[in-house]
Amino acid sequence: MKTSFFLYCLLLTTVTFGQNTYLHCGKLIDTKEGKMLTNKTIIVSGQKILAIEDGYSLPKTDQDVVVDLKSKTVMPGLIDLHVHIEGETNPRAYLEKYTLNDADIAFNAQHFAKVTLLSGFTTVRDLGGSGVNVALRNAVNAGKVDGPRIFTAEKSLATTGGHADPTNGAKKGLLESPGPEEGVVNGVEDAKKAVRQRYKNGADWIKITATGGVLSVAKSGLNPQFTVDEIKAICETAKDYGMDVAAHAHGDEGMQRAILGGVRTIEHGTMMSEETMALMKKHDVYLVPTITAGKSVSDKAKIPNYYPKVIVGKALDIGPKIQEMFGRAYKSGVGIAFGTDAAVFAHGDNTKEFGYMVEAGMPAMKAIQSATLTNAMLLKMEAQLGQLQAGYLADIVATNDDPTVNIDTMTEVVFVMKDGKIYKN
Ligand SMILES: [Zn+2]
Repeated sequence: MKTSFFLYCLLLTTVTFGQNTYLHCGKLIDTKEGKMLTNKTIIVSGQKILAIEDGYSLPKTDQDVVVDLKSKTVMPGLIDLHVHIEGETNPRAYLEKYTLNDADIAFNAQHFAKVTLLSGFTTVRDLGGSGVNVALRNAVNAGKVDGPRIFTAEKSLATTGGHADPTNGAKKGLLESPGPEEGVVNGVEDAKKAVRQRYKNGADWIKITATGGVLSVAKSGLNPQFTVDEIKAICETAKDYGMDVAAHAHGDEGMQRAILGGVRTIEHGTMMSEETMALMKKHDVYLVPTITAGKSVSDKAKIPNYYPKVIVGKALDIGPKIQEMFGRAYKSGVGIAFGTDAAVFAHGDNTKEFGYMVEAGMPAMKAIQSATLTNAMLLKMEAQLGQLQAGYLADIVATNDDPTVNIDTMTEVVFVMKDGKIYKN
């Protein structure tokens, strides 16, 4: 009896008074209310936020840890809804498709994941790779690798010769013509099979390339590449499997087909017309702007031989248009979800997007809300992520300066905690 009482006390002590982390926050962003709070203490216990108290609370036990963020601005971990964690732009990227093994890709991806996490992104949606992204997600979740929480589309879906056809640019006979298993869809039956295959392979989301793209070895960056029926079949099948659909789209016709087909987000949205903006609002579809990628491709296109020739013209034409379109879409009331297309530029530079959004007319607080509150909702994680509240997962970052005064401080994240564990301080 005595022993069991002693054990009970010991257990109670561990549960109640185990090591907690006290974050003393000079400024704290309430993303739900869109307000800046001051002088708060976030108490973190295990993976979660235990409480948020007024003023600077003192630790209760010797094991508790205090982190001084009194001169910093603290906010929820950032979420990027558009990255490709497996790769990164470089002048040899088009050759690497034929030279890298999965193991090479995996080591690269592990590196990019760490860089992304340390830049302040505690969660990302990966919109297309080889399947290594699924393995990486699992390794991060198992605590074997440092990286953001990953929601992945595994392999993007395309039509033959479309933006994500993995054999574009390869000589005839070198590779077999890909089908739905490899993510290439022609017709409604293929569409269903491709989605089911992604589910089988471990995807969390479905990504389609609804129009041509800038960086594929193909002529058009704008043409529609799926029929509405194919997109409908993809979206309906995805829904059966608990997945939503993201559509890459630069051209207006392809965007409209994607919206009518039932997608949840439009990626890039470069040539979006007023009519399409109205359609976005009507169907509650969010725009993921990727301004940083647009700027990066047009800069890189000016470097001789950086991209294959067929890409240069598209990059110079499409890249610079995204920011201006974003400004109009935001002002017209289209829902904005933060996303960058990191991999098209160096991982870790995702934070530059905030400055570009503000430059185009979005208030800093709204830009931060899009990367936290809105993105958590789109990932169906709104009860666990995107806010600093008791009971939420302890994904917390801090910037040197107040981003509502100086948005460029988003590029200097000085503190990163994910799931209650400190990765950068
Ligand atoms: Zn992309």
